Amino acid sequence: MTTKVVVVGAGIVGASIAFQLAKRGVEVVALDKGLGPAEGSTGASSSICRCRYTHPEVVRLAFCGQEAYGNWGLFTGLAQPRSGLHRTGVLWMMGETREKVTADVAKLASQGVAAEILDPERLARLFPILSPCAEPFDTTGDTEHVCRPGEAFLFETRGGYVDPVSANQDLIEATRLAGGTVTFKARVVGVTRESGGVTGVRLADGATIAGDLVINAAGPWCNQLNEMAGADMRWTLTPTRIQTVYRSWPPVMGTLPVGADSSTGIYFRPESAGQQVLVGSVLPEDEEEVVDDPDDFKRVPDQDFITMKLAALHHRIPSLEARGGISGIAGLYTINREDVHPILGPSGVDGFWVANGFSGHGFKLAPAVGSMIAQAITGVTTEFDTDVPMSFFSVDREPIALGVKHVLA
Ligand SMILES: Cc1cc2nc3c(=O)[nH]c(=O)nc-3n(C[C@H](O)[C@H](O)[C@H](O)COP(=O)(O)OP(=O)(O)OC[C@H]3O[C@@H](n4cnc5c(N)ncnc54)[C@H](O)[C@@H]3O)c2cc1C
Repeated sequence: MTTKVVVVGAGIVGASIAFQLAKRGVEVVALDKGLGPAEGSTGASSSICRCRYTHPEVVRLAFCGQEAYGNWGLFTGLAQPRSGLHRTGVLWMMGETREKVTADVAKLASQGVAAEILDPERLARLFPILSPCAEPFDTTGDTEHVCRPGEAFLFETRGGYVDPVSANQDLIEATRLAGGTVTFKARVVGVTRESGGVTGVRLADGATIAGDLVINAAGPWCNQLNEMAGADMRWTLTPTRIQTVYRSWPPVMGTLPVGADSSTGIYFRPESAGQQVLVGSVLPEDEEEVVDDPDDFKRVPDQDFITMKLAALHHRIPSLEARGGISGIAGLYTINREDVHPILGPSGVDGFWVANGFSGHGFKLAPAVGSMIAQAITGVTTEFDTDVPMSFFSVDREPIALGVKHVLA
């Protein structure tokens, strides 16, 4: 294999691509402008691994990612990986009918994903601290609320969450052990071209790095890279500010699953080895703050956001005392506004590929996306490879048909 590949970005996506190429014997260099791992989207990620998606291809891709994190030592080849999947299960509290939940359990099962239907009684036995309410709840407190138990809840029994920074660190270490290079403090400022085709990149210090193929894995900075390469994307990829809240979690409350809660518009999961709970949003209006400069945005959550999301959490967990430390972060993810799914593979410019626009799904998909891209470049398959075709996410596809265009698509 003589191809040399330059990956721009060593977040969870770039590191995953670099690792998959290095382990197939490809000469690969991942370049990142950060001082160290996970300074982009990855470091702020809630890193939830769930598989319930609209399209079976995405279910399958998420499942492949989940199984990679679930077998992280084997997947990375590291004797002592820092990370791995906390299989808490993923509980969907969406106010749905039993028919809808039954159909989705069958769809998940068709792609190998274990899921079951919980009725309110079984929910109470598994997670007694969670209210079974399915009635929409106004977090402003302006509308009177009477709780009404939901009919059926979908539970993905083997889903969960991962610590994102240590997973990124693991992939970087695994790439280096497999013979690849990962370099930080290496800001790409230009993409070099000859006769129309890309020949490498130019760094801020003036150095050039040659490559037969350059892959844009620059996360929220992807548009800058595409511009440098002259890639004319017809996709609208917007770096978008996304907020999360962390609240202390009293040990007496026991363990939580990952939860998605449509009656209040939040998701939640354990954080910091169970000492905190992390709360984020599943509402489209919380995915609207487009950021012009990914290097310059407010990195802490707004007070209003904190107040609303904690009100939502207390509705779902009524016995949670209203005291304890509160913090949070805001990060960016890149939303593909046409169909909230990533674009992967050849960009239309010779020698320039993209892995962009993950729209809030990039962490869970990253291991499988790395596998998909490395298979497409080398034709070589290895263990843990995904069998989902990359064409589903190609740059020249029609937008994927969806009922909703937000993070729960
Ligand atoms: C608050 C929040 C919650 C999320 N929750 C989830 C979740 O629960 N589940 C899930 O699956 N996903 C989630 N996501 C999305 C997921 O984190 C991202 O899709 C994923 O981290 C994207 O990884 P990436 O490697 O593409 O981008 P990044 O991590 O941003 O990496 C891109 C890298 O490129 C580098 N770079 C950029 N430009 C240049 C340049 N010119 N030269 C050199 N280097 C460059 C940057 O320094 C950066 O390290 C969440 C994201 C956020 C912000």
